[in-house]
Amino acid sequence: MEDPKKLYMVVPCYNEEEVLPETSKRLKEKYQSLIGRGLISKESRVVFVNDGSKDKTWQIICQLHESDPDFFSGIDLAHNAGHQNAVLAGLMTVKDICDMAITMDADLQDDINTIDAMVERFYEGDQVVYGVRSARDTDTFFKKFTAEGFYKFMKVMGADVVYNHADFRLMSSRVLQELGEFREVNLFLRGMVPLIGFKSSNVYYERAERFAGESKYPLKKMLSFAINGITSFSTKPLKLITSLGCIMSVLSIVALIWAFIAKIGGFSEPGWSSTMCSIWLVGGLQLLCLGIIGEYVGKIYSEVKARPRYIIADFINKEK
Ligand code: UDP
Ligand code: MG
Repeated sequence: MEDPKKLYMVVPCYNEEEVLPETSKRLKEKYQSLIGRGLISKESRVVFVNDGSKDKTWQIICQLHESDPDFFSGIDLAHNAGHQNAVLAGLMTVKDICDMAITMDADLQDDINTIDAMVERFYEGDQVVYGVRSARDTDTFFKKFTAEGFYKFMKVMGADVVYNHADFRLMSSRVLQELGEFREVNLFLRGMVPLIGFKSSNVYYERAERFAGESKYPLKKMLSFAINGITSFSTKPLKLITSLGCIMSVLSIVALIWAFIAKIGGFSEPGWSSTMCSIWLVGGLQLLCLGIIGEYVGKIYSEVKARPRYIIADFINKEK
């Protein structure tokens, strides 16, 4: 077999002091077995990205690095940049020093044992391997319902994402180079990676419960994530507004004709209720449509400013 390749794991961490000791331990074991099987090289690393945590996350990462500098590395972001930006910060930092990179959440919800299959697929020639959830038995009904609704809604709205795939995936350094060419500020990696193309495949795993701590994605963040995903990848909502406008116009012409006939026929009503109803309906619709257009205008605003997507304060890594 060819020489084993260098695998870097990128793990975004926001207030994850409760899970990091366990996550690092399990990753270390996994790496040792992979190195033992000759699947990855000894220079492979795990890079924790501290996304502006308020707890001891960064101290723990530093300790890990000190105790095992050949294995654990860390990136400290200057402020909380958000999950997607933290993942990108990690990927862009390692893209030139690894052969492949896997992104994984810190909370052990993604099954570490899937890594073997991902790496094997890489050797079979896949440049992107998506981790796809086969079951959601451990999620609460609410999480399951909202999360699956999210994928379906995204599809209806024209943003094509891999169903039930979160950000657990392997990418080759070749794909990472191309990802680096994407300049957008509003990141939605699940939509961006399929756009890059190359040969890809899915591996299936069962998603576990969070090992410890609580979700950093409450409903509010999840909603804004969905809106961001849709407005970054599709102009379908704008087209829907146009259709809505057409339908309303036709309806109002019909109403006009009806009003005219009623007037001529002499059976017109005092007409207060119908007038009020239409004012409220049309007013509400207009506000909704303005809001949707506003979402896009706001997005253009942040894209035009092109502010840095993340700021790296520190990178601890022992390069061999
Ligand atoms: N995360 C992050 N920055 C944030 C929020 C979350 O880096 O602002 C990380 C978090 O530490 C975890 C991953 O993103 O490793 C996914 O978050 P979480 O598990 O809370 O989301 P859920 O699985 O509940 O959707
Ligand atoms: Mg999680």
